[in-house]
Amino acid sequence: MIETAPSCSDIQRAIRTIPDFPKPGIQFKDITPVLADARLFSASIDLLTEDFRPGMVDAVVGIDARGFIFAGAAALKLQAGFVPIRKKGKLPYQTHEQEYALEYGTAVVAVHVDALKRGDRVLIIDDLLATGGTASAAAVLVKGLGARIVGISFLIELGFLGGRKKLSEFPVRSLIVF
Ligand code: AMP
Repeated sequence: MIETAPSCSDIQRAIRTIPDFPKPGIQFKDITPVLADARLFSASIDLLTEDFRPGMVDAVVGIDARGFIFAGAAALKLQAGFVPIRKKGKLPYQTHEQEYALEYGTAVVAVHVDALKRGDRVLIIDDLLATGGTASAAAVLVKGLGARIVGISFLIELGFLGGRKKLSEFPVRSLIVF
């Protein structure tokens, strides 16, 4: 029997929703069961990179921390480099920083000043799009280095939060919408 690759619905069924984590009112989407299943993990990388072939992307940018897991694997598949965007204070070399709004207060993400070259074609990947603050801050950093964003891909989108509006200038893809 020929085995078919897992679909987005198969991946969706494996995602576990944890109520009130890390604080009351948050429905946390736990992707660890997807990562632990080789077929689901592999299918999620295939689907996240579906619009691209090796040679179409110079770097895959992953967002701290769960984005790294998907972006690293996607970079290997697309034969591209991997670049981390991290929370402020974690990267060892000189950085550019970008602040963004959280529900309460602000946060800052950073990228190394030499992480990308002018004109590099970049695919940004994170596990989840919520309000879009994190991904749009990451996009500002990538554009600030002169690179060109050819796509932003998420495993999960919380559609009811409307984060996609903040990314309307980019091709955005999400595999699963809640
Ligand atoms: P936002 O900036 O609001 O789009 O939030 C996106 C970032 O926060 C991503 O890096 C996610 O990993 C994390 N995040 C936000 N909401 C959730 C959630 N309900 N479950 C899991 N991760 C979340």
